[in-house]
Amino acid sequence: MKVEVITTGTELLLGEILNTNFTYLAQELNARGFDVLYQTTVGDNPERLEDALKIAAARADIVITSGGLGPTRGDITKELVAKFCGAELYMNLEVWEHIHTLLSKRNICIAANNDKQAMVPSGAVVLRNEVGTAPGLVLEHDSTMFVMLPGPPFELKHVCEKELFPFFEQRFPQNGIIKSHTLKLYGIGESGVAELLDDLILQQSNPTIALYARHGEILVRLTAKAAAEEEADRMIAAMQEKVEAIVGTYVYGYDNDTLPEVLGKELLERQMTIAFAESCTGGLASSLMTDVPGSSEYLKGSVVSYTNEIKRDVIHVNKTILDKKGAVSEEVALEMARGVRELIGADFAASITGLAGPGGGTRKKPVGLVYIAVADENGEECRKFNFSGARSQVKHRAAMAAIGLALERVKKCSLNREDLEEISNDHDTDR
Ligand code: AMP
Ligand code: MG
Repeated sequence: MKVEVITTGTELLLGEILNTNFTYLAQELNARGFDVLYQTTVGDNPERLEDALKIAAARADIVITSGGLGPTRGDITKELVAKFCGAELYMNLEVWEHIHTLLSKRNICIAANNDKQAMVPSGAVVLRNEVGTAPGLVLEHDSTMFVMLPGPPFELKHVCEKELFPFFEQRFPQNGIIKSHTLKLYGIGESGVAELLDDLILQQSNPTIALYARHGEILVRLTAKAAAEEEADRMIAAMQEKVEAIVGTYVYGYDNDTLPEVLGKELLERQMTIAFAESCTGGLASSLMTDVPGSSEYLKGSVVSYTNEIKRDVIHVNKTILDKKGAVSEEVALEMARGVRELIGADFAASITGLAGPGGGTRKKPVGLVYIAVADENGEECRKFNFSGARSQVKHRAAMAAIGLALERVKKCSLNREDLEEISNDHDTDR
């Protein structure tokens, strides 16, 4: 079923409000197996809306409009769709009663133009709107189904969930579903993932594989179209197995998982704690960690060691190293991680020192250069990054990288403290 969504409202074209009705409809319709192929936004102008309806009717099976069902003269959607379908408007008494009951409950005087909202095209199915005055409407003409939905997002969602989607399920039982599952990767770039998955991506049809880079992490989204949910799940699971056989070591979580959440979970499982020493991120890594409810179980505390003085006096970074190597250096990052771990008394520590920009960069130490170190009872390690982007992006990427690196380190630590020895033995043989 080909769907076109027409969102109406001059305020959308002026960029005054976000078109959230479209994003909602697109997500919900795709998930129900509809092919959303076109999206048009048109102002409150009768000629242009009429044109948009004509074009949409010619290329889609279902045309869904949002907005323009209100009581004012500027609300023209219903009148124009009815005209397009050659349907007369009549006063629907049920809708009229609903409007009057709702408005008197809200102590609003009923205006003459409220009656306009009770006018329904002949032959239309009324989609009841319990939370507003304008009902949704379904009107069929030739081979096109027109669905008119109210503009206020809360009302649109309500009408969709209570009325439209159940109606669609009855009308299009063979539609099938589309289901997506996202693998979240950390520690590898988009081009790296693309290269590794090249063969799979070339062969893809159903499920499809899509890559997205976001805030320094890579999302691999698998989308299956199937008759029923169980079948889609099976198809996705089979593809996931293939993908993870190739890039599984970089997968840290799925769907709504976040790096701070996963790091928190891994620490909780081990009953271990962490601390951060943050310079250029100014506390952002700790802030991201504390966005997760219950994070006080494992984030013991952090130091924003922004100046050299605090690096030296509070977390005991060696003054000679600081003077010789500079604050943005591998040596200082290692000292910071070691120092904050001891000061806070945490099992793990991560440190961040770098140049967020825009000024202050040199040829040797350019803006975006960030050193991140992690420490635990077995020692420390440091990694060098060159992040691009504006100051806020460098800060965010650095904070996420610190959390990512900490996660890597924590995962190496076995769940059971007694197994630690075994792990370090494994490492020895690796080397
Ligand atoms: P309307 O039914 O066109 O008068 O729209 C009623 C209200 O719903 C408007 O004032 C907007 O604030 C909101 N609205 C309309 N269309 C959209 C849309 N596509 N996305 C988000 N909000 C919308
Ligand atoms: Mg409007």
